[in-house]
Amino acid sequence: MTTRDDCVALDGADPLAALREQFDLPPGTLYLDGNSLGVLPRATAPRVAQVVQQEWGAGLIGSWNHAGWMDLPQRVGDKIARLVGAGAGELVAADSTSVNLFKVLSASLAMQRTDAPRRKVIVSERSNFPTDLYIAESLAAEHGCELVLLDGDAITARLGNDVAVLMLTHVNYRTGRLHDMAALTRAAHDAGALTVWDLAHSAGAVPVDLTGAQADFAVGCGYKYLNGGPGAPAFVWVHPRHVDRFRQPLSGWIGHAAPFEFAPGYRPAAGIARYQCGTPSVIQLAALECGVDTLLAAEPHGGMSALRAKSLALTRLFAQLVEERCAGHGLTVTSPREDAMRGSQVCLTRSEGAYAIVQALIAHGVVGDFRAPDVLRFGFTPLYTGFADVWDAVEHLRQVLTAGTWREARFNQRAAVT
Ligand SMILES: *Cc1c(COP(=O)(O)O)cnc(C)c1O
Repeated sequence: MTTRDDCVALDGADPLAALREQFDLPPGTLYLDGNSLGVLPRATAPRVAQVVQQEWGAGLIGSWNHAGWMDLPQRVGDKIARLVGAGAGELVAADSTSVNLFKVLSASLAMQRTDAPRRKVIVSERSNFPTDLYIAESLAAEHGCELVLLDGDAITARLGNDVAVLMLTHVNYRTGRLHDMAALTRAAHDAGALTVWDLAHSAGAVPVDLTGAQADFAVGCGYKYLNGGPGAPAFVWVHPRHVDRFRQPLSGWIGHAAPFEFAPGYRPAAGIARYQCGTPSVIQLAALECGVDTLLAAEPHGGMSALRAKSLALTRLFAQLVEERCAGHGLTVTSPREDAMRGSQVCLTRSEGAYAIVQALIAHGVVGDFRAPDVLRFGFTPLYTGFADVWDAVEHLRQVLTAGTWREARFNQRAAVT
Protein backbone atom coordinates (compact mmCIF):
# COMPACT_ATOMS: atom_id res chain seq x y z
CA MET A 1 0.00 0.00 0.00
CA THR A 2 1.30 3.45 -0.89
CA THR A 3 1.16 5.90 2.03
CA ARG A 4 0.98 9.67 2.01
CA ASP A 5 4.56 9.73 3.33
CA ASP A 6 5.66 7.72 0.29
CA CYS A 7 4.06 10.41 -1.90
CA VAL A 8 5.75 13.23 0.03
CA ALA A 9 9.08 11.41 -0.49
CA LEU A 10 8.41 11.17 -4.23
CA ASP A 11 7.79 14.92 -4.34
CA GLY A 12 11.04 15.52 -2.45
CA ALA A 13 12.98 13.54 -5.06
CA ASP A 14 11.19 15.08 -8.08
CA PRO A 15 13.57 17.19 -10.24
CA LEU A 16 10.54 18.90 -11.84
CA ALA A 17 8.96 19.98 -8.53
CA ALA A 18 10.36 23.53 -8.72
CA LEU A 19 8.49 24.20 -11.99
CA ARG A 20 5.34 24.65 -9.90
CA GLU A 21 6.73 28.02 -8.77
CA GLN A 22 5.85 29.32 -12.23
CA PHE A 23 2.16 29.30 -11.33
CA ASP A 24 -0.27 31.04 -9.04
CA LEU A 25 -2.45 28.23 -7.76
CA PRO A 26 -5.24 29.33 -5.44
CA PRO A 27 -4.49 28.06 -1.92
CA GLY A 28 -6.54 25.05 -0.90
CA THR A 29 -7.22 23.99 -4.48
CA LEU A 30 -6.08 20.70 -5.99
CA TYR A 31 -6.46 21.42 -9.67
CA LEU A 32 -6.92 18.33 -11.82
CA ASP A 33 -8.50 20.12 -14.77
CA GLY A 34 -5.50 21.47 -16.67
CA ASN A 35 -6.68 19.32 -19.57
CA SER A 36 -9.70 21.61 -19.86
CA LEU A 37 -8.31 25.01 -18.78
CA GLY A 38 -4.66 25.28 -17.82
CA VAL A 39 -3.77 27.38 -14.75
CA LEU A 40 -2.53 30.97 -14.75
CA PRO A 41 1.27 31.37 -15.02
CA ARG A 42 2.78 34.08 -12.79
CA ALA A 43 4.34 35.72 -15.84
CA THR A 44 1.03 36.21 -17.64
CA ALA A 45 -0.63 39.09 -15.77
CA PRO A 46 2.47 41.39 -15.85
CA ARG A 47 3.09 40.55 -19.52
CA VAL A 48 -0.53 41.19 -20.50
CA ALA A 49 -0.46 44.45 -18.50
CA GLN A 50 2.68 45.47 -20.41
CA VAL A 51 1.05 44.68 -23.77
CA VAL A 52 -2.08 46.60 -22.82
CA GLN A 53 -0.50 49.63 -21.13
CA GLN A 54 2.78 50.10 -22.98
CA GLU A 55 2.44 48.44 -26.34
CA TRP A 56 -1.21 49.29 -26.96
CA GLY A 57 -1.76 52.25 -24.60
CA ALA A 58 1.45 54.16 -25.29
CA GLY A 59 2.70 52.61 -28.55
CA LEU A 60 -0.68 52.57 -30.25
CA ILE A 61 -0.69 51.53 -33.91
CA GLY A 62 3.10 51.77 -34.15
CA SER A 63 3.31 48.61 -32.06
CA TRP A 64 2.31 46.50 -35.06
CA ASN A 65 5.84 47.25 -36.28
CA HIS A 66 7.77 48.17 -33.14
CA ALA A 67 6.47 45.60 -30.64
CA GLY A 68 6.60 42.63 -33.00
CA TRP A 69 2.82 42.14 -32.96
CA MET A 70 2.72 40.89 -36.55
CA ASP A 71 5.31 38.20 -35.81
CA LEU A 72 3.47 36.78 -32.79
CA PRO A 73 1.67 33.93 -34.63
CA GLN A 74 5.02 32.65 -35.96
CA ARG A 75 7.02 33.41 -32.82
CA VAL A 76 4.61 31.58 -30.53
CA GLY A 77 4.19 28.93 -33.25
CA ASP A 78 7.94 28.25 -33.28
CA LYS A 79 7.85 27.68 -29.53
CA ILE A 80 4.88 25.28 -29.77
CA ALA A 81 6.69 23.51 -32.63
CA ARG A 82 9.43 22.50 -30.16
CA LEU A 83 6.80 20.65 -28.09
CA VAL A 84 5.27 18.68 -30.96
CA GLY A 85 8.26 17.65 -33.07
CA ALA A 86 7.78 20.27 -35.78
CA GLY A 87 10.42 22.52 -37.33
CA ALA A 88 10.75 26.29 -36.95
CA GLY A 89 8.55 28.13 -39.45
CA GLU A 90 6.18 25.17 -39.84
CA LEU A 91 3.48 26.05 -37.30
CA VAL A 92 1.40 29.14 -36.50
CA ALA A 93 -0.72 30.09 -33.49
CA ALA A 94 -4.05 31.47 -34.68
CA ASP A 95 -7.83 31.13 -34.52
CA SER A 96 -9.53 28.28 -32.68
CA THR A 97 -9.02 24.54 -32.92
CA SER A 98 -12.39 24.21 -34.67
CA VAL A 99 -11.49 26.83 -37.29
CA ASN A 100 -8.02 25.38 -37.85
CA LEU A 101 -9.52 21.93 -38.28
CA PHE A 102 -11.80 23.37 -40.95
CA LYS A 103 -8.74 24.77 -42.78
CA VAL A 104 -6.63 21.62 -42.75
CA LEU A 105 -9.46 19.18 -43.42
CA SER A 106 -10.52 21.34 -46.38
CA ALA A 107 -6.95 21.42 -47.68
CA SER A 108 -6.54 17.66 -47.32
CA LEU A 109 -9.83 16.97 -49.11
CA ALA A 110 -8.85 19.40 -51.88
CA MET A 111 -5.50 17.63 -52.27
CA GLN A 112 -7.18 14.27 -52.59
CA ARG A 113 -9.71 15.66 -55.08
CA THR A 114 -6.74 16.43 -57.35
CA ASP A 115 -4.57 13.40 -56.56
CA ALA A 116 -7.17 10.67 -56.04
CA PRO A 117 -10.69 11.86 -56.93
CA ARG A 118 -12.29 8.45 -56.25
CA ARG A 119 -11.43 8.74 -52.58
CA LYS A 120 -14.58 10.03 -50.87
CA VAL A 121 -14.39 8.85 -47.28
CA ILE A 122 -13.24 10.62 -44.11
CA VAL A 123 -12.55 8.12 -41.33
CA SER A 124 -12.68 9.20 -37.71
CA GLU A 125 -13.35 7.83 -34.25
CA ARG A 126 -16.94 7.66 -33.00
CA SER A 127 -15.95 9.03 -29.59
CA ASN A 128 -13.90 11.90 -31.06
CA PHE A 129 -14.60 15.37 -29.64
CA PRO A 130 -17.91 16.63 -31.07
CA THR A 131 -16.57 19.80 -32.69
CA ASP A 132 -14.14 17.71 -34.76
CA LEU A 133 -16.99 15.50 -35.95
CA TYR A 134 -19.30 18.47 -36.61
CA ILE A 135 -16.66 20.20 -38.75
CA ALA A 136 -15.98 16.94 -40.62
CA GLU A 137 -19.72 16.38 -41.14
CA SER A 138 -20.09 19.80 -42.68
CA LEU A 139 -17.03 19.44 -44.94
CA ALA A 140 -18.03 15.93 -45.99
CA ALA A 141 -21.37 17.32 -47.18
CA GLU A 142 -19.68 20.21 -48.99
CA HIS A 143 -17.14 17.96 -50.75
CA GLY A 144 -19.56 15.13 -51.59
CA CYS A 145 -17.77 12.83 -49.14
CA GLU A 146 -18.91 10.44 -46.47
CA LEU A 147 -17.86 10.60 -42.80
CA VAL A 148 -17.35 7.09 -41.40
CA LEU A 149 -17.09 6.74 -37.61
CA LEU A 150 -15.47 3.69 -36.08
CA ASP A 151 -13.91 2.50 -32.83
CA GLY A 152 -10.64 0.81 -31.90
CA ASP A 153 -9.02 -1.57 -34.37
CA ALA A 154 -11.87 -1.14 -36.84
CA ILE A 155 -10.27 2.22 -37.73
CA THR A 156 -7.14 0.66 -39.28
CA ALA A 157 -9.18 -2.12 -40.88
CA ARG A 158 -11.32 0.47 -42.73
CA LEU A 159 -8.36 2.19 -44.44
CA GLY A 160 -9.10 1.06 -48.00
CA ASN A 161 -8.70 2.66 -51.43
CA ASP A 162 -11.79 4.85 -51.01
CA VAL A 163 -10.45 6.70 -47.95
CA ALA A 164 -9.29 10.29 -48.49
CA VAL A 165 -8.44 11.34 -44.94
CA LEU A 166 -7.96 9.74 -41.54
CA MET A 167 -8.85 12.42 -38.97
CA LEU A 168 -8.11 11.54 -35.35
CA THR A 169 -7.60 13.16 -32.00
CA HIS A 170 -4.29 11.83 -30.67
CA VAL A 171 -5.52 11.53 -27.05
CA ASN A 172 -9.23 10.84 -26.67
CA TYR A 173 -10.90 13.51 -24.51
CA ARG A 174 -13.26 11.06 -22.80
CA THR A 175 -11.13 7.99 -22.20
CA GLY A 176 -7.61 9.42 -22.19
CA ARG A 177 -6.60 6.77 -24.72
CA LEU A 178 -3.48 7.65 -26.70
CA HIS A 179 -3.28 6.57 -30.34
CA ASP A 180 -0.02 5.40 -31.90
CA MET A 181 0.46 8.35 -34.27
CA ALA A 182 3.38 6.84 -36.20
CA ALA A 183 1.69 3.48 -36.78
CA LEU A 184 -1.69 4.94 -37.78
CA THR A 185 -0.07 7.50 -40.07
CA ARG A 186 1.92 4.72 -41.75
CA ALA A 187 -1.23 2.62 -42.15
CA ALA A 188 -3.09 5.60 -43.63
CA HIS A 189 -0.26 6.39 -46.05
CA ASP A 190 0.04 2.73 -47.09
CA ALA A 191 -3.65 2.94 -48.00
CA GLY A 192 -3.13 6.22 -49.89
CA ALA A 193 -4.93 8.38 -47.29
CA LEU A 194 -3.78 11.61 -45.64
CA THR A 195 -3.79 12.18 -41.88
CA VAL A 196 -5.18 15.06 -39.83
CA TRP A 197 -4.21 14.93 -36.14
CA ASP A 198 -5.88 16.93 -33.40
CA LEU A 199 -3.36 17.47 -30.59
CA ALA A 200 -5.79 19.21 -28.18
CA HIS A 201 -4.97 16.77 -25.37
CA SER A 202 -1.40 16.06 -26.49
CA ALA A 203 0.48 19.33 -26.96
CA GLY A 204 2.27 19.95 -23.67
CA ALA A 205 0.87 16.69 -22.24
CA VAL A 206 2.67 13.88 -24.07
CA PRO A 207 5.71 13.88 -26.36
CA VAL A 208 4.61 14.33 -29.98
CA ASP A 209 6.81 13.82 -33.04
CA LEU A 210 4.91 15.11 -36.07
CA THR A 211 8.04 15.04 -38.24
CA GLY A 212 9.09 11.56 -37.15
CA ALA A 213 5.57 10.23 -37.74
CA GLN A 214 5.53 11.86 -41.22
CA ALA A 215 2.07 13.22 -40.35
CA ASP A 216 0.35 15.45 -42.91
CA PHE A 217 -1.68 18.02 -40.95
CA ALA A 218 -2.17 18.87 -37.27
CA VAL A 219 -4.10 21.31 -35.10
CA GLY A 220 -4.14 21.81 -31.34
CA CYS A 221 -5.49 23.84 -28.48
CA GLY A 222 -3.84 26.74 -26.60
CA TYR A 223 -5.89 26.85 -23.40
CA LYS A 224 -5.49 23.27 -22.15
CA TYR A 225 -2.00 21.94 -21.36
CA LEU A 226 -0.38 25.01 -22.99
CA ASN A 227 -1.82 27.26 -20.24
CA GLY A 228 -2.68 30.07 -22.67
CA GLY A 229 -5.84 31.23 -20.87
CA PRO A 230 -9.55 30.94 -21.69
CA GLY A 231 -10.13 31.01 -25.45
CA ALA A 232 -6.38 31.22 -26.18
CA PRO A 233 -5.45 30.96 -29.86
CA ALA A 234 -5.02 27.42 -31.18
CA PHE A 235 -2.31 26.25 -33.58
CA VAL A 236 -2.03 24.69 -37.02
CA TRP A 237 0.79 22.72 -38.65
CA VAL A 238 1.16 21.41 -42.18
CA HIS A 239 4.02 19.16 -43.27
CA PRO A 240 6.43 21.15 -45.49
CA ARG A 241 5.87 18.66 -48.34
CA HIS A 242 2.25 19.83 -48.62
CA VAL A 243 2.20 23.36 -47.31
CA ASP A 244 2.62 25.23 -50.61
CA ARG A 245 0.50 22.85 -52.69
CA PHE A 246 -2.92 24.02 -51.56
CA ARG A 247 -4.45 27.13 -50.17
CA GLN A 248 -6.83 26.75 -47.30
CA PRO A 249 -10.31 28.15 -47.99
CA LEU A 250 -10.38 30.92 -45.35
CA SER A 251 -8.38 33.20 -47.63
CA GLY A 252 -8.20 36.23 -45.39
CA TRP A 253 -5.75 39.04 -45.96
CA ILE A 254 -3.27 38.01 -43.23
CA GLY A 255 -2.65 34.76 -45.14
CA HIS A 256 -1.96 36.79 -48.32
CA ALA A 257 1.57 36.96 -49.76
CA ALA A 258 1.57 40.77 -49.39
CA PRO A 259 -1.31 41.97 -47.18
CA PHE A 260 -0.25 45.60 -47.31
CA GLU A 261 -0.31 45.81 -51.10
CA PHE A 262 -4.10 45.75 -50.68
CA ALA A 263 -4.33 44.05 -54.06
CA PRO A 264 -7.75 42.85 -55.27
CA GLY A 265 -6.71 39.22 -56.01
CA TYR A 266 -5.75 36.59 -53.42
CA ARG A 267 -2.22 35.19 -53.58
CA PRO A 268 -1.41 32.89 -50.66
CA ALA A 269 1.74 33.55 -48.65
CA ALA A 270 4.48 30.94 -48.90
CA GLY A 271 4.58 28.32 -46.18
CA ILE A 272 2.44 28.05 -43.06
CA ALA A 273 1.70 31.82 -43.05
CA ARG A 274 -1.11 31.11 -45.54
CA TYR A 275 -2.92 29.20 -42.77
CA GLN A 276 -3.61 32.50 -41.02
CA CYS A 277 -6.82 34.32 -41.88
CA GLY A 278 -7.40 37.66 -40.12
CA THR A 279 -5.62 39.99 -37.72
CA PRO A 280 -3.71 38.24 -34.89
CA SER A 281 -5.20 38.33 -31.37
CA VAL A 282 -2.26 40.19 -29.84
CA ILE A 283 -3.23 40.17 -26.16
CA GLN A 284 -4.24 36.50 -26.22
CA LEU A 285 -1.10 35.53 -28.12
CA ALA A 286 1.04 37.31 -25.52
CA ALA A 287 -0.73 35.30 -22.80
CA LEU A 288 -0.33 32.08 -24.78
CA GLU A 289 3.41 32.73 -25.12
CA CYS A 290 3.70 32.91 -21.31
CA GLY A 291 1.86 29.60 -21.05
CA VAL A 292 4.07 27.87 -23.63
CA ASP A 293 7.16 29.23 -21.88
CA THR A 294 6.16 27.35 -18.70
CA LEU A 295 6.57 24.09 -20.65
CA LEU A 296 9.79 25.16 -22.35
CA ALA A 297 11.16 25.84 -18.84
CA ALA A 298 11.27 22.05 -18.45
CA GLU A 299 13.78 21.72 -21.32
CA PRO A 300 16.89 21.88 -19.06
CA HIS A 301 15.31 19.11 -16.92
CA GLY A 302 14.61 16.71 -19.79
CA GLY A 303 11.70 18.52 -21.46
CA MET A 304 8.63 16.67 -22.62
CA SER A 305 10.10 13.21 -21.99
CA ALA A 306 10.76 14.08 -18.32
CA LEU A 307 7.27 15.61 -18.04
CA ARG A 308 5.84 12.48 -19.63
CA ALA A 309 7.61 10.18 -17.16
CA LYS A 310 6.19 12.19 -14.25
CA SER A 311 2.73 12.36 -15.82
CA LEU A 312 2.65 8.57 -16.21
CA ALA A 313 3.75 8.11 -12.61
CA LEU A 314 0.98 10.50 -11.45
CA THR A 315 -1.78 8.85 -13.48
CA ARG A 316 -0.59 5.35 -12.49
CA LEU A 317 -0.63 6.38 -8.83
CA PHE A 318 -4.09 7.94 -9.10
CA ALA A 319 -5.63 4.83 -10.67
CA GLN A 320 -3.91 2.58 -8.12
CA LEU A 321 -5.01 4.68 -5.13
CA VAL A 322 -8.60 4.92 -6.37
CA GLU A 323 -8.74 1.13 -6.60
CA GLU A 324 -7.09 0.65 -3.20
CA ARG A 325 -8.78 3.37 -1.18
CA CYS A 326 -12.19 3.74 -2.86
CA ALA A 327 -12.87 0.03 -3.37
CA GLY A 328 -16.51 -0.98 -3.03
CA HIS A 329 -17.87 2.44 -4.07
CA GLY A 330 -18.78 1.49 -7.62
CA LEU A 331 -16.00 3.35 -9.45
CA THR A 332 -14.34 1.88 -12.53
CA VAL A 333 -11.03 3.15 -13.93
CA THR A 334 -11.72 3.32 -17.66
CA SER A 335 -8.52 4.94 -18.96
CA PRO A 336 -5.99 2.47 -20.36
CA ARG A 337 -3.67 0.99 -17.73
CA GLU A 338 -0.91 0.39 -20.26
CA ASP A 339 1.39 3.43 -20.19
CA ALA A 340 1.87 3.55 -23.97
CA MET A 341 -1.89 3.87 -24.47
CA ARG A 342 -2.66 6.52 -21.85
CA GLY A 343 -2.55 10.31 -22.17
CA SER A 344 -2.21 12.60 -19.14
CA GLN A 345 -5.67 12.02 -17.71
CA VAL A 346 -7.57 9.33 -15.84
CA CYS A 347 -11.28 8.78 -16.29
CA LEU A 348 -13.49 6.98 -13.84
CA THR A 349 -17.05 5.93 -14.47
CA ARG A 350 -19.88 5.32 -12.04
CA SER A 351 -23.39 4.25 -12.98
CA GLU A 352 -24.96 6.75 -10.58
CA GLY A 353 -23.99 10.21 -9.36
CA ALA A 354 -20.91 10.94 -11.50
CA TYR A 355 -21.87 14.60 -11.97
CA ALA A 356 -22.74 15.12 -8.29
CA ILE A 357 -19.55 13.45 -7.07
CA VAL A 358 -17.49 15.84 -9.21
CA GLN A 359 -19.43 18.79 -7.74
CA ALA A 360 -18.95 17.53 -4.17
CA LEU A 361 -15.23 17.11 -4.85
CA ILE A 362 -15.04 20.69 -6.13
CA ALA A 363 -16.57 21.79 -2.81
CA HIS A 364 -13.65 19.94 -1.18
CA GLY A 365 -11.22 21.95 -3.36
CA VAL A 366 -10.48 19.11 -5.79
CA VAL A 367 -11.28 20.32 -9.29
CA GLY A 368 -11.93 17.70 -11.96
CA ASP A 369 -14.74 17.65 -14.47
CA PHE A 370 -17.70 15.61 -15.59
CA ARG A 371 -18.34 14.38 -19.10
CA ALA A 372 -21.82 13.09 -19.90
CA PRO A 373 -23.21 10.61 -19.20
CA ASP A 374 -21.13 8.97 -16.47
CA VAL A 375 -17.46 10.05 -16.64
CA LEU A 376 -15.46 11.67 -13.82
CA ARG A 377 -12.39 13.09 -15.57
CA PHE A 378 -9.11 14.08 -13.92
CA GLY A 379 -6.23 15.69 -15.79
CA PHE A 380 -2.69 15.56 -14.39
CA THR A 381 -0.33 18.37 -15.28
CA PRO A 382 3.18 17.42 -14.12
CA LEU A 383 4.28 21.07 -14.19
CA TYR A 384 2.24 21.84 -11.09
CA THR A 385 0.80 18.60 -9.74
CA GLY A 386 2.71 16.53 -7.19
CA PHE A 387 2.40 13.02 -5.80
CA ALA A 388 1.01 14.14 -2.42
CA ASP A 389 -1.62 16.13 -4.37
CA VAL A 390 -2.72 12.88 -5.98
CA TRP A 391 -2.91 11.17 -2.59
CA ASP A 392 -4.94 14.05 -1.15
CA ALA A 393 -7.32 14.12 -4.12
CA VAL A 394 -8.08 10.41 -3.70
CA GLU A 395 -8.57 10.94 0.05
CA HIS A 396 -11.18 13.65 -0.67
CA LEU A 397 -12.87 11.33 -3.17
CA ARG A 398 -12.96 8.58 -0.54
CA GLN A 399 -14.54 10.97 1.98
CA VAL A 400 -17.19 12.17 -0.49
CA LEU A 401 -18.13 8.58 -1.30
CA THR A 402 -18.05 7.33 2.28
CA ALA A 403 -20.12 10.21 3.67
CA GLY A 404 -22.45 10.24 0.64
CA THR A 405 -22.43 14.08 0.60
CA TRP A 406 -22.76 14.01 -3.17
CA ARG A 407 -26.43 13.08 -2.73
CA GLU A 408 -27.20 16.60 -1.43
CA ALA A 409 -29.43 18.59 -3.78
CA ARG A 410 -26.87 21.39 -4.23
CA PHE A 411 -24.44 18.96 -5.90
CA ASN A 412 -27.08 17.70 -8.30
CA GLN A 413 -27.92 20.96 -10.06
CA ARG A 414 -26.36 21.15 -13.52
CA ALA A 415 -24.51 24.31 -14.55
CA ALA A 416 -24.15 25.28 -18.22
CA VAL A 417 -20.45 24.35 -18.36
CA THR A 418 -19.62 20.98 -16.87
C1 LIG B 1 -10.81 21.14 -26.51
C2 LIG B 1 -10.95 20.54 -27.86
C3 LIG B 1 -11.35 21.31 -28.95
C4 LIG B 1 -11.74 22.75 -28.72
O1 LIG B 1 -12.06 23.41 -29.88
P1 LIG B 1 -12.37 24.98 -29.80
O2 LIG B 1 -12.43 25.37 -31.21
O3 LIG B 1 -11.26 25.60 -29.02
O4 LIG B 1 -13.64 25.16 -29.06
C5 LIG B 1 -11.41 20.71 -30.19
N1 LIG B 1 -11.09 19.41 -30.36
C6 LIG B 1 -10.71 18.63 -29.32
C7 LIG B 1 -10.35 17.22 -29.55
C8 LIG B 1 -10.64 19.18 -28.04
O5 LIG B 1 -10.28 18.41 -27.02
